[in-house]
Amino acid sequence: MTALHDREPIFAVATGDRAAAIAIIRISGEKVLPMLAAITSKRDKEWQARHFYLLKLQDHDDHLDTCLAVFFPAPHSYTGQDMVEIHCHGGTYIRQRICELLQSINIRPAAAGEFTKRAFLNGKLDLVNAEGISQLITADTESQWRAAKSLVSGSLQKQINALRHELIKALSLLNAAIDFPDERETQTLQVEAVETAVVTALAQIKRMLASYQHGRIAAKGLRLALVGKPNVGKSSLLNLLLAKQRAIVSPVAGTTRDYLEEDFLLAGRLFKIIDTAGLHATDNRIEQYGVAKAKELAQSCDLVCIVAAVDDDTFELPALELETSRVLKVINKIDLAPEVNLPTNYPSSEIAISCKTGAGIPLLYQQLIEKFDYHTHALKDKDSIISCERHYLALRNSAKSLELALEELRQHNHAECIAFELQHTVQELADIVGNVSNEDVLAEIFSKFCLGK
Ligand code: GDP
Repeated sequence: MTALHDREPIFAVATGDRAAAIAIIRISGEKVLPMLAAITSKRDKEWQARHFYLLKLQDHDDHLDTCLAVFFPAPHSYTGQDMVEIHCHGGTYIRQRICELLQSINIRPAAAGEFTKRAFLNGKLDLVNAEGISQLITADTESQWRAAKSLVSGSLQKQINALRHELIKALSLLNAAIDFPDERETQTLQVEAVETAVVTALAQIKRMLASYQHGRIAAKGLRLALVGKPNVGKSSLLNLLLAKQRAIVSPVAGTTRDYLEEDFLLAGRLFKIIDTAGLHATDNRIEQYGVAKAKELAQSCDLVCIVAAVDDDTFELPALELETSRVLKVINKIDLAPEVNLPTNYPSSEIAISCKTGAGIPLLYQQLIEKFDYHTHALKDKDSIISCERHYLALRNSAKSLELALEELRQHNHAECIAFELQHTVQELADIVGNVSNEDVLAEIFSKFCLGK
């Protein structure tokens, strides 16, 4: 049974806040039909399930709008409660007046994600489904859509539930060993079976964890840092990629002291591009902070674009040890040295560009696309990928507990200690799919949804 506040009638405009031909206002909760009778041409007994009706909305003497409306009775609705959808004219003023009218009959505006939260509480979907729906709505690119679809499809949940099931079986074997400590021979066999189960589960969880970088890039974009000495043209490159004047370009070294992060769409692929402070030795405390931050970002980003200029003699960046697969080397300002030829034998390890003339930029685009696609292609044959940080963290905790359990097993420690770690893993896995009862955790998850969902 859901709490009272999860049953009271709520409404939201489901179609966004722009003026449009039509807008859809969703209403969900107990006793919505008798409440609507006060403002419509329809008595509550006249509604049939899933029929479209012409509905007149009346605000006292004002006929507000003639709409279409449909009723989904509980439990066969998105939220599992009685729901009405009103399809009204989509003008800003009409929408506003209808929202006020609904509030006047004590139907309150829904919080972000409140419809989906109710659907979850009423068992219409699990937490992973709910997160997938949120990602589907906000998907701007194909890879985001694919990552979201994999959450909605249920394949991750299947895998998690199968893992849980195996670990629960292992737990029951351990419990038997705890309950009958004298049966040594049976115990040895059981401990072996537990170890096999733990090793198998751990390997599977590690495979899932390994898919996270690819999944995160698909869902959230590839993080690309621009690093290099001051004045080589990092901010100019950022502005060129974003096709706007975002960063201050200046011949004065140290202009970008902190860092800037911007979304950048390239041929349907999402990049999070980060312009960092120029790497150089400085006495200025704020610049020192910027340089330290740039080094930190270079370590944590998916791809680091090391920018140099033709008059800059080296790409070597002190104290930055990066794997070559994470690095793109770019020489800027080739307009200043026309004798430097553009590399024609693609792929090249260095890309010569000019932010001033645009030379070499198509080649840079091509390399960025290839780097992105390397991650998303890796996801094609996998049925369930980890793309959500919450799932990743829970799986990481599960792996830690299983590793501890394995250690305890191999040191022949008490069955109780091993059982404790397995119990913890089973709980972490359950939390992913949604045995979350903590109201704060749920509020945190659903608050990220957009209004009306
Ligand atoms: P940052 O410190 O690395 O971010 O460098 P900026 O983008 O601020 O650029 C430093 C200076 O180099 C500015 O005066 C830019 O106009 C200039 N600059 C940037 N790119 C080019 C280029 O491709 N050719 C030439 N000639 N000048 C450039």
